[in-house]
This record gives sequence, C-alpha cells and structure tokens, in this order.
Amino acid sequence: MPELNNEKKALLHICCGVCASYAIEALSSKGYSVTGYFYNPNIYPYKEYLLREQETKKIAKFYKIKLLNSNCDFTRWEKNCAMFKDEKEGGARCNACFKLRLKETYKKTKNDNFNYFTTTLTISSHKNSQRIFKIGKEIGDNRFLAIDFKKKDGFKKAVEISKKLNLYRQNYCGCIYSLRDREKRVEDKK
Ligand code: SF4
Repeated sequence: MPELNNEKKALLHICCGVCASYAIEALSSKGYSVTGYFYNPNIYPYKEYLLREQETKKIAKFYKIKLLNSNCDFTRWEKNCAMFKDEKEGGARCNACFKLRLKETYKKTKNDNFNYFTTTLTISSHKNSQRIFKIGKEIGDNRFLAIDFKKKDGFKKAVEISKKLNLYRQNYCGCIYSLRDREKRVEDKK
C-alpha cells in the first residue's frame, strides 16, 4: 500500500472540458490542489480530439489549474479496445477504455509525485461509477479518490457552466464505435 502524507495534491484525469468544470470545483472545495491530465487516446477522429483538448485548455485556464498533456496514442487504444468493437456502450469495451486511461493517469500520479488521482468520467449518467471505482482501486489502491461527480446534480451543473463559457459539447462518447452507433441511431430515426 503506498504511503501518503497530508498533502492533498490530486491529478484529475479529464475527458473533456464540459465534464472537467464541476469536477474541478468539487475537488477544490474538498481542499485538493488540482492538476488536470488530458489523456484520451479513445477520441476519434483526430479533429474531435483536438477540439476536446482545446476546450479542456480553456477550462484549465478559467480555473487557473495546471494541465498536463499527452500524445493521442490511438494505436494503443485500438490494441486494448478494438477487440470489443461490437459491444454495446457500457460493456467490455468501456471497461478496457477506462482501465487504459486510469492506468496511464496512475503512472503519471506516481512519476510526478501527486498523492491522489481521480477522473471526470464518473460525472456522466451513461457511465457506471461503481465500475470506475473498482477499476481505479485495482490500479491505484488508496491513491484513487472514488468520487461520484454525478451526485449533487454534478452533470447538470457542468452543463450550466459549459453554457456560460460557451464550450463545445459533444454528442457521442468519443471512440470510433460510439460515433458509429450514434450515426446508426440517427439513421434509424429517419
Ligand atoms: S463508448 Fe466511450 S468509454 Fe466506451 S470505449 Fe468508447 S470512448 Fe471509451
């Protein structure tokens, strides 16, 4: 079990600018000093990746937090998740996707001497927070902060903040398969 001191330096994995806003506020209100980490090799196509990254930078600037970045390692994401391409959203593909992003965040947490890490992913009503907690704990044990950001109207508040800041709000989760499924839903409705 890793040894922790009293410092509350937390690395927040950020999936997009919209979800980050409320999570930054919630963590700060609990006394954590927050640094963001944009690690999302799931996002497809690349122009969408750049857009979500840009909106995350805007949020980091607004809240005056430091934002760490990474490469968009799409090949690595594919290696871990493409085998589950026909799974429905919320299934095995998402588990593998959460695991990859949280593993990388934990690695950064250790390398850059943060005490804790957590993720904005729990703010989405489409994502099972308990499953994310399990994965986070398996990876980072007591360094993982199991915070359900969707509680206390977290998502609603995040949307309100994003409207005020005029942030881009995406209409699919992020990967090539979630985009495919969304397009199919739109097609089916016609
Ligand atoms: S639907 Fe979202 S969480 Fe699931 S694999 Fe795709 S990008 Fe990852």
